[in-house]
Amino acid sequence: MQFLSTSEADFEKRFARIVNDRRESDKDVAGVVQSILARIKAEGDAALAELTRRYDGFDPEVDGWQIGRDVCEAAFHDLDPSLRAALETAAQRIRAYHAAQLPQNRDYTDDAGVRLGARWGAVEAAGLYVPGGRAAYPSSLLMNAIPAKVAGVGRLVVTTPTPKGEVNPLVLAAAHLAGVDEIWRVGGAQAVAALAYGTGNIAPVDVITGPGNAFVAEAKRQLYGVVGIDMVAGPSEILVISDAKSDPDWIAADLLSQAEHDPSSQSILITDDLPFARLVEDSVDVMCASLATHRTARSSWDEHGVIIVVNDLLAEAPALANRLAAEHVELAVDDPEALFAAIRHAGSVFLGRHTPEAVGDYVAGPNHVLPTGRRARFSSGLSVLDFMKRTSFIALDETALRAIGPAAVALADAEGLPAHAKSVQVRL
Ligand code: NAD
Repeated sequence: MQFLSTSEADFEKRFARIVNDRRESDKDVAGVVQSILARIKAEGDAALAELTRRYDGFDPEVDGWQIGRDVCEAAFHDLDPSLRAALETAAQRIRAYHAAQLPQNRDYTDDAGVRLGARWGAVEAAGLYVPGGRAAYPSSLLMNAIPAKVAGVGRLVVTTPTPKGEVNPLVLAAAHLAGVDEIWRVGGAQAVAALAYGTGNIAPVDVITGPGNAFVAEAKRQLYGVVGIDMVAGPSEILVISDAKSDPDWIAADLLSQAEHDPSSQSILITDDLPFARLVEDSVDVMCASLATHRTARSSWDEHGVIIVVNDLLAEAPALANRLAAEHVELAVDDPEALFAAIRHAGSVFLGRHTPEAVGDYVAGPNHVLPTGRRARFSSGLSVLDFMKRTSFIALDETALRAIGPAAVALADAEGLPAHAKSVQVRL
């Protein structure tokens, strides 16, 4: 963990290093992924089965390609009732929030008499990658699948690797609740390629979302253009801005809630009180030791954890936060509004001491798929718009064409495109 103070002479140098630190995997996976994509494109299901046997030790040709909707429904009904109720609460709140995101169509006639507008529509099919094993989260399934369904996607397809045949029943229950249409037992770059190109068994989709390891992320990156993708996700991050009135244990728990995700995750505290900073540091140490996830959390905190002490929270913290452009930003102060107003770059902001980031991971409603690695400077969390596209339209009558057509003719002539000019002129 690094301890910084804005009063120190070398602060800017050390902070810049933190801002520019790429915690993402530099594993050279591009070549491997490229050849997997080429094989799926050329050989379809035969390659998909062979790669699934190789990487997952699972033979879909023998043990089945798909998990039926009846299996998902049974998993849902077999859940412990309190867990089922929690999943339903989450699904209902996520659905309501995303329904409010649905965009409006536009249709109007301007001063020249030209009718203009845009019509929104969903993509026909979406694919959702669900990581295998322990990394499969039912919350991630809900956060990806529900916006797709709310957008109006007709066919929602999940792929998930099932090494040794194992699947997380909670994920199947979430798939039932979210209305997933198909689940295929394949994973990695080959599953993403199958979704993008289609195989004999799997019909292609238009958009692919969902987290996964370096091979999955690289496959999405390489297939962008063949299909739409949500984003290339990196390790998660939290920035907590807190004054000394917060309970240090609350803040320590918030920092650890991201640290436990991945050794590359990053948790940062900015505070204006040195003794408070030390109390949080001590609390992190004590709390971390008691977590079942302590190895991951410890490694993340030791390697990437940061505490920054500033002189004045409102004057200094927003500028630092904007340079970090963190995935999650918590404002643990009595009145967070002034800080909130000054924060321009963040995936999601959690206002006030009673808004731990983890409520956003599960049940608040907004999407937990958020930009990492400073991408909040130019991008946003997953939304219904990731599963929709906009078709603009134009309608002119003779009068309207007479009003704006000559300008089109002039520009077409200037660009040396006579047929363009002609198509307008013949009508005038
Ligand atoms: P995964 O499903 O992402 O990947 C498993 C697949 O990787 C295998 O099926 C195989 O096809 C492929 N693979 C593994 N080794 C390979 C190799 N040497 N060559 C080619 N392909 C290979 O599951 P995972 O590996 O457990 O990783 C899950 C990832 O998802 C983690 O990185 C985790 O951090 C991330 N995750 C992120 C979020 C989030 O919200 N950001 C949520 C859950 C999981």
